[in-house]
Amino acid sequence: MNEFLIDVHAHLNDERYNNLNETLKNAKQSKVEKIICVSYDFESSKKALKLSTENENIYAAIGIHPNNSGFFSQDFIDFLTKNYQNKKVVAIGEIGLDYHYENFDKEKQRNVFIAQLKLADTFGLPVQVHCRNAMNDTLEILTEHRNLLKNGGIMHCFKGSFENLRKVGELGLKISVGGVVTFKNAIETQELIEKVPLDMILFETDCPYLTPHPYRGKINEPKFLELTVQKTAELKDISFQKMMQISTENCCKIFKKLK
Ligand SMILES: [Zn+2]
Repeated sequence: MNEFLIDVHAHLNDERYNNLNETLKNAKQSKVEKIICVSYDFESSKKALKLSTENENIYAAIGIHPNNSGFFSQDFIDFLTKNYQNKKVVAIGEIGLDYHYENFDKEKQRNVFIAQLKLADTFGLPVQVHCRNAMNDTLEILTEHRNLLKNGGIMHCFKGSFENLRKVGELGLKISVGGVVTFKNAIETQELIEKVPLDMILFETDCPYLTPHPYRGKINEPKFLELTVQKTAELKDISFQKMMQISTENCCKIFKKLK
């Protein structure tokens, strides 16, 4: 049985992690033995690959975040083409739609999202989907291109209705639960988690963001993942250990190179 946790979405490629050895040591002490370092532009993709090459416990997801759609280029595609077979490159991500900030280019985001879904399919990799204030369009694109989802994937930091969740499940995707579930005012998220099937649950920190309660305001890091797992286990009325085993098994089914 899996007696460890996997942080499926962490930005260790962020410049704030200037003492990575310490961060990894703390993670390991909190049972987080594997971490997927997720990219958001071309530079962070290169850094994720580098970190995964240098550190046994780090794996890389390579991709262009919707807010950085302008970084999607032939150079980026060439980089991915050259490295997708690397045993530490486990996913394409994060990709998707983000309508949160002003002046976003909807059409550009859509095109870059679909182009990366195609790359994931071509290269046989699962996807990590980011969706902010854009659930309907995201689900529409995923449904329209469901033939590109044969390698599965996750909706990271899932925030939506139970109906949305059911759709995600129908598409063969899972969700990853982040620190928000521990927030005292996150009633909607907690109610949703109570209803999510156990075989759809993975865990993430999305560090350095979304630090779980009671450490909100501090920089998040993988060692805090256990707080999210603990809270979710309580909501599902199962033990921490059981929640850990199930989520790690779910994770290894999708991100096959982590086995
Ligand atoms: Zn992220």
